[in-house]
Amino acid sequence: MGIERITSYLAGRWQDGDGEGARLFNPANDEVVATASTQGLDMGAAVQFARERGGALRALTFAERASILERMRAAMHQAREALIDAQVLNGGCTRSDAKFDIDGAILVFAHYAELGKALGDKRILADGEGIQLGRSPRFWGQHIHVPKHGVAVLINAFNFPTWGFAEKAACALLAGMPVIIKPATSTALTAYKAMQLLVEHSGAPEGALSFVGGSVGNLLDHMNGQDILSFTGSAATGQKLRSHSKIVASSIPVNVEADSLNAAVLGPDVDLGSDCMQLFLRDVAREITQKTGQKCTAVRRIMVPQTRVDDVIAELGARLGEIVIGDPNLKEVRMGPLSSKDQLHEVHAGIARLKKEAVVVHGDPDGPMKLVGVAPGVGCFFAPVLLRANDSWNANEVHSHEVFGPVATILPYSGKAEDAAGLVQKGEGGLVASVYSDDRDFTEQVTLGIAPFSGRVYLGSSKVLEHALGSGLVWPQCTHGGPGRAGGGEELGGLRGVLHFMQRTSIQGSRPMVEQIAGTKPA
Ligand code: NAP
Repeated sequence: MGIERITSYLAGRWQDGDGEGARLFNPANDEVVATASTQGLDMGAAVQFARERGGALRALTFAERASILERMRAAMHQAREALIDAQVLNGGCTRSDAKFDIDGAILVFAHYAELGKALGDKRILADGEGIQLGRSPRFWGQHIHVPKHGVAVLINAFNFPTWGFAEKAACALLAGMPVIIKPATSTALTAYKAMQLLVEHSGAPEGALSFVGGSVGNLLDHMNGQDILSFTGSAATGQKLRSHSKIVASSIPVNVEADSLNAAVLGPDVDLGSDCMQLFLRDVAREITQKTGQKCTAVRRIMVPQTRVDDVIAELGARLGEIVIGDPNLKEVRMGPLSSKDQLHEVHAGIARLKKEAVVVHGDPDGPMKLVGVAPGVGCFFAPVLLRANDSWNANEVHSHEVFGPVATILPYSGKAEDAAGLVQKGEGGLVASVYSDDRDFTEQVTLGIAPFSGRVYLGSSKVLEHALGSGLVWPQCTHGGPGRAGGGEELGGLRGVLHFMQRTSIQGSRPMVEQIAGTKPA
């Protein structure tokens, strides 16, 4: 296969940047698969074009915007195999891991298409009940949500090239905001191919869709107070974007989805061989290794009662040891390489930090690996590593440094709910934490202790053994995001995700006039 050229869709046309630009690799064999450059492209003109044409999208009803999302869903569904191929090639994902991303994107478009259909022929939304402000109902107040007159700039991380933009774009487009989609450059091939489909098949009005295939350049300099920046990536880049002078000066809302030291807590009631233990082991092994651990929701910290630590190390180690690693194209392979040499380097450096406070109890980060279908010495492969903290309460690196690979640390604890919750809290804010127990009082106490520190709490018990799909799955019906270290952002959650892209305004005046504007006039 030849080397693909990734271009950008700006100001209503596909445009190529100057020079070779960035090289995109196949991390299973180190071959260059694509190049991308945005050098010399006019980002100011692109933002202006999208902003000026935005009126056409706002003029549509929710149901009409939903039809665009439905066509996006259908286009991606039809091209699913080709998109999977692209992600195996430029990402090193197994087919199953690639499906997790692509099906996730399809599910998000489907959910928001349904939601938009249900909202029907409205263009704005009333927020709650009307409020009597004066002595009589004559002077009335009502909150409404209206689409902003700007653009939504959506910057994404390398690990979810299609779901990453879909979960943001579905909400923004349904709200009535044009989107400028910027995937991470290193794995942009799948996003590029998906975007080509959406441009061709979605029927979105001109200006509603833009795509940056490579570096974002000076795009942020052209944003204004009607725009929104929604970012997923590392905490360091998030901080940089948040403090960008234009973002600060124009009070541009920024949503950040960043690092997270997600935790799994095993309850003291869970016996070896019980259904709940089976669920815990199954979930945790998958959450460490799916997408080679390059998942924002992957389990990084495992709180285990002191008395169960040896059993969990043996059982979890056995499961991790069974995982076949190698060429992601092969059926028998369960885990592909990390996505790039940079990631491989970062994971090794991260383990060195964790080893200051923890010992490796499964795997050997520096030892030889058994790989299937891979030529010796190529690729970015890394086998799962499990560590155990020496002192759970003082393992500061374990609680603060996210190693973005198939790596997790066991943190022994007393078995008391308050101690489990206290250790989770030391992550200073996460996307998801899970509790595995059949003891309802323990589960309640831990859940309420960690909820303020978590975007989502997943409760694993024997009652959901056949039903639960793991803590890593992000449902469009439920919110995604987390406080503190996780970025302080919130996305999805049904209508909640749409409202982030709209302005809430309170209208105050004579009741009939307010009700006419808000569309709340009684029939
Ligand atoms: P990253 O290096 O921070 O890059 C993220 C995105 O920001 C990329 O599109 C990157 O573009 C862009 N970017 C980098 N510097 C920029 C700048 N100065 N101005 C504008 N854009 C800039 O993160 P990553 O390595 O791709 O992703 C891994 C991280 O994402 C992990 O820490 C993970 O926890 C986090 N993550 C979080 C979630 C979540 O939902 N909370 C989901 C997935 C991943 P280029 O690629 O062109 O540099």
